[in-house]
Amino acid sequence: MNMIIRLLHTIRQVLAGKQLVNNENKFRIMCIATAGIHLVFCVVMGLLGADFLCYYNVVIVLLYCFLGFVAAGKGAFRLILVLLYLEVEFHAIAATFLLGWNWEFMLYTLSLLPAAFYLPNSLSNRGKHLRYSAILSAFATLCYFAVSVLIPRFQPYYDTSAYPGLRGFIRYYNIVLAFFLQLVFSFLFALENRYMENLLRKENIELGIEANLDPLTKIRNRRSMSRRLEEEMERMNRENELFCVVMVDIDDFKRINDTCGHDAGDYVLTGIAEILAEELRENDLCCRWGGEEFLLLVHGLRDDAFSVAERIRKRVNEREFQILDDRSIHVSITLGIAEARKEIILRELIAEADRKMYYGKNHGKNQVVA
Ligand code: GH3
Ligand code: MG
Ligand code: MG
Repeated sequence: MNMIIRLLHTIRQVLAGKQLVNNENKFRIMCIATAGIHLVFCVVMGLLGADFLCYYNVVIVLLYCFLGFVAAGKGAFRLILVLLYLEVEFHAIAATFLLGWNWEFMLYTLSLLPAAFYLPNSLSNRGKHLRYSAILSAFATLCYFAVSVLIPRFQPYYDTSAYPGLRGFIRYYNIVLAFFLQLVFSFLFALENRYMENLLRKENIELGIEANLDPLTKIRNRRSMSRRLEEEMERMNRENELFCVVMVDIDDFKRINDTCGHDAGDYVLTGIAEILAEELRENDLCCRWGGEEFLLLVHGLRDDAFSVAERIRKRVNEREFQILDDRSIHVSITLGIAEARKEIILRELIAEADRKMYYGKNHGKNQVVA
């Protein structure tokens, strides 16, 4: 019961493009299914008295069982692929000459075309697979063409006129299977492409997130913030949406580094970034602007930004930074606020916040200057 549930789950994941069928299972299923198809031929050929085809199919069923149960487990996928191609082609041609064209055995060569693109693609070496695919599909096409030209000159070897029922059965069996196999290979190829696409999209998103984050504090980096600020400036000019930028600088940070070590400095930076992220409203932004400087974007007027900045300053003051098991320190920050206006450009706006922050540095630190 558990196994069935797991199998159903796997099938669902594969269909959704979230999981890949590994090559071992893929080649195993393919070999066993092909053995099953040949087993039917084996019985029918026995009933028809087509002894060569009957014995051939007995051997081939055993061969596919070996390939599916042993060779696939050992990873001999290329060998399986080549044998499968040669065997399907050989059987289609032999059965056509021995029984006649209208038994439709040659249709199987058409199924080899999508397989020629799908299977080599699964076997890594992605650059090379198109060459193999071209060779395999050209081979299949050539065989079909050659047989269709030659067959009118030959009489079928076996006289099967006494078995119209078996002929009808095999004819429809071949038509349905040959088209079904084309569909299966094309469908599997599409599913694998969907999986690769999903994977790429996920990796792209992760890369995008990483490229925009500061690796130490895990808040936005300067590059990402600059982009957002440009957007906000445009929005302000267009929609009159007001905002302020706040420059935040840690007071006497060099001394923390010098007396407690660089790791303690890093710990303080991370802690302050946490406070910033927690205290800001959902649509406001913060980033690590430089070494021990942070830049905030706060929507609204100077007064709104001032109260946000004060709240942050107080929280930083109150926090005990436990830099060692037996040692904690208190840290303060100085903040400068500049309000965006239509006539100002971004660089000047940030410089203004920086100037205000330095004004605070020169007038006692640990304060907000608006
Ligand atoms: P002030 O109060 O005037 O801002 O003094 P300050 O010591 O904070 O400023 P200063 O610019 O003299 O020193 C900043 C220090 O920040 C120097 C640099 O070594 C340190 N720093 C920059 N980036 C990092 C970092 O990623 N980790 C750590 N631990 N220290 C850093
Ligand atoms: Mg500084
Ligand atoms: Mg500083």
